[in-house]
Amino acid sequence: MEVFDTFLEGIFVASLVLFSLILIIVVGSSSGSRRPYKSKTKWLTRKEYYREYLKSEAWQRKRYVVFKRDNWTCQECGAKATEVHHLKYAKYQIGKEPIDWLVSLCSPCHRKKHN
Ligand SMILES: [Zn+2]
Ligand SMILES: [Zn+2]
Repeated sequence: MEVFDTFLEGIFVASLVLFSLILIIVVGSSSGSRRPYKSKTKWLTRKEYYREYLKSEAWQRKRYVVFKRDNWTCQECGAKATEVHHLKYAKYQIGKEPIDWLVSLCSPCHRKKHN
C-alpha cells in the first residue's frame, strides 16, 4: 500500500509541476505581448524601459560617440555639452536609434528642449 501511495503522490507532484509549467508559459506569452518596446499603446512602460536603457553601458558608449561627433559642444549655443538629447525615439527597437537622431546639448539648452 505504501508503494501505491508514493506512486499517487508522484503523479500528483508531476501534474502540479506540469500545471505550473503551463501556467508559466501562458502567463509568460501573454505578458510578452505587452513588452514595452513592442507596444504602441503602452507608452509609460516603454518610457520606463527607456529609463533603464539610459543607465546601460550601450547608451554610455553611444553618448560618447555623439559627444565626440559634436566635439563636446552644445549644438544650440556652443557651450560645453554635457547631455545628449533625442531628436527622435526609436519606436520598436529601443537602443537602435541612429546617432543622427541624437544631439549634444548643454544642460540649460536641454532643459529648454523639454519645456
Ligand atoms: Zn547650450
Ligand atoms: Zn532630451
